Amino acid sequence: MNTIGVLTSGGDAPGMNAAIRAAVRTAIYKNMKIYGIERGYDGLIKGDIKEMNVSSVSDIIQRGGTILRTARSEEFLTTEGINKAVDVLIKYGIEGLVVLGGDGSLRGGAELAKRGIKVMGIPCTIDNDLAYSDFTIGFDTAVNTVLSAMGNIRDTSTSHDRCTVVEVMGRNCGDIALYAGLAGGAEFILVPEVETDLNLLCRKLVEGIRRGKMHSIIVRAEGVKISSVELADFVQRSTGFETKVVVLGYTQRGGSPSARDRVLASKMGNRAVELLLKDSESRAIGLKGSDIIDMDLTEALGMERKWDQEILDLADILSI
Ligand code: ATP
Repeated sequence: MNTIGVLTSGGDAPGMNAAIRAAVRTAIYKNMKIYGIERGYDGLIKGDIKEMNVSSVSDIIQRGGTILRTARSEEFLTTEGINKAVDVLIKYGIEGLVVLGGDGSLRGGAELAKRGIKVMGIPCTIDNDLAYSDFTIGFDTAVNTVLSAMGNIRDTSTSHDRCTVVEVMGRNCGDIALYAGLAGGAEFILVPEVETDLNLLCRKLVEGIRRGKMHSIIVRAEGVKISSVELADFVQRSTGFETKVVVLGYTQRGGSPSARDRVLASKMGNRAVELLLKDSESRAIGLKGSDIIDMDLTEALGMERKWDQEILDLADILSI
């Protein structure tokens, strides 16, 4: 195989640029031609494609977002749209495609794989919701962004003896809340995977304040049923403590990728192109322990996520 493409799709994640850079530079190092496809599957269908060279990816390893830009494509969800995309790939002689994105984007890649395109999926999403990989590119940076905000919130909450509900992203996955909550020493972590007894939460909060805690931070993942405002109202009414809400929102998506995300992205981008060079069947690239792994794309997407209750239990013990 000597002509390949790379695209970013779905929500952007810090580290996507580092992965694009790794794919482009590995391809050029191996004397392959590599095209950059703009705005994910939408740009693919429209033929927004340009050849990449060494300098196309200069000065991007430290940048958040994606230089190829990203999109969600309704048209690509139809058979007609997918067939149009395949026609464009054939027109450009692109035999293999590196897809950077979350679950939906990799499922889109699997549709192309069914039609004869070799697809290498790289897990890029801040949500960390892909079961086959321990961690996804962008997650570590997002957790660090939340931690930095929690530090600021602690300062002001302590000064005012306040309780703060910090709402973080993750869709139906509680990992950002879990890791940021543990690392940031939150008093409580609410995730969609586990039901929380709110009366118990309020009792613990009151006990903590009686023992001299100056503030309390509740990290709430966005996928939890009770909204942040409802939760804050409930806590304030039940305990009498002033409770504010901070929604971190899209700040978690941006920012310069952490060293960990850059290393992960560099290794995964390189592995994807190495596999295409070997003319491998379509694969999903992932992380298991400290190893970069690859496995059958469809099999990877069929796996079910496991919830790490041990981390939540640990956070509970450490926040007494
Ligand atoms: P994130 O979770 O970070 O937002 P994502 O990749 O899961 O990223 P989605 O919006 O789910 O984001 O998917 C991105 C695009 O991938 C969709 O707009 C669509 O074009 C394509 N896609 C999603 N699911 C499928 C599917 N089952 N079949 C074909 N294409 C799909």
